[in-house]
Amino acid sequence: MLDKPSENEEEYIARMEFEKKKKAEMGKQNKLDQEEKKRLKELHFMKCPKCGMELIEIDYRGTKIDECSQCRGVWLDAGELAAISKFEKSALDKFFSIFDKQEA
Ligand SMILES: [Zn+2]
Repeated sequence: MLDKPSENEEEYIARMEFEKKKKAEMGKQNKLDQEEKKRLKELHFMKCPKCGMELIEIDYRGTKIDECSQCRGVWLDAGELAAISKFEKSALDKFFSIFDKQEA
C-alpha cells in the first residue's frame, strides 16, 4: 500500500481553499451591498422618485402621506394606500347607507 498524497486529496484541499475564498468574497460583496443600500437610502430619502425634489409629509385624514414640493406627486408608504382605501370605503359605505335607509 503506497502512502502518497492522492490527487483527490489535493483537489479536495484546493476546493476547500476556493470555497473559503468564495465565502470571504461573498461576505465582502454583502457588506458592499449593505453600504450601497445605506448610501442610496441617504441619497434618496424623502426625495421624489419622479423629479428628485424634496417630499413634504402631510397628514391626510390621520394617514401620513408624502407630497412632492415640485411636481405635487404623492407617495404612500407600505399600508398607507390600504388605510386610505379603507377610509374611502367606509365613507362610501356611509354614503350608500343613506340610500339603504331611504329604501327601508
Ligand atoms: Zn416630484
